[in-house]
Amino acid sequence: MKNTQTIPTCPRCGYDQSGEVAAWTDRCPVAGTCPECGTEFRWADLFDPARQDFPWLVEHTRSVRRRARRTVPTLVCLALPWVFWSRVNVHARTDARAVAGWLLMLFIALHLFCWLPLSLVLAATDLGYPLSYTKLSSMIGSLAGFEFMIWLATGLMWPVACISYDGWVWCNCFGDGFTLISAMRMPLGMSLTWFAFLFALPITRRIAKLRTAHLQRAVLFQLSGLIVVFAAMRILYAFALHGTAKPWVEAIILFLYLVVCVWTLVWWICAAVIGWKIRSWPLLALSTVASLLGGVVLYVIEMSMSNMLRFYL
Ligand SMILES: [Zn+2]
Repeated sequence: MKNTQTIPTCPRCGYDQSGEVAAWTDRCPVAGTCPECGTEFRWADLFDPARQDFPWLVEHTRSVRRRARRTVPTLVCLALPWVFWSRVNVHARTDARAVAGWLLMLFIALHLFCWLPLSLVLAATDLGYPLSYTKLSSMIGSLAGFEFMIWLATGLMWPVACISYDGWVWCNCFGDGFTLISAMRMPLGMSLTWFAFLFALPITRRIAKLRTAHLQRAVLFQLSGLIVVFAAMRILYAFALHGTAKPWVEAIILFLYLVVCVWTLVWWICAAVIGWKIRSWPLLALSTVASLLGGVVLYVIEMSMSNMLRFYL
């Protein structure tokens, strides 16, 4: 039964179990316990980590078509961190490259999906509300024309850059484009601090007893939340161009921003408690506080840097 290609390691802490296997003489047990972290496992899973793969998880496939099919079930599970982490625990095979590939796919797909509606909203704003029949017919008439090309190009880059009618690209980095990108600083800072806290400090590493691959999984899947919110905010910013809609659109943007921050916090706490079964409450409390501080620090650094840039440019 021994497979020479796979070194049996603990799914949680990565401890090499070859010594245990070498001690087997005439029979092998079905289940085992890691002497390093105490995690119980089935030996068969150690020799073939893909044995327990989930048919709905994007991490467990490299095929583009399967990834596309698995995107909705994975996103639904990600929206409910306690559901995700109760299924995708330390025993689930990790594949950071598969998740990274899917994130790129998700970003491109959402960007293209929003492209046309966004261009139409920008065109309507340019024409001015309320849209009359003549305005609509002129818009339809220009579908293949130069104006529409400009709206399409702006829709692709909105709200980071816009293209004016004389062909100039003007950077909107200090306007809505800036706000959109910097909206990600707090949840991103929180997530990176959790990672750094559990990964970089020897003492927390010793308590957590966790392979880096599990932390990478948490960081990468958290990015998917940011990608989805980023796409939603792009569309919302286009609606905010319309003066009367601006206050409520801004309220929705603020609400989304708070949701993604709270979700990030719940995401990491569920990962630690439900997914990785970390039972050290001081470690959990410290990580939570550190992550909030990390988010604020990134927020302040980024804000002061952009203020400096604004001052000099
Ligand atoms: Zn272990």
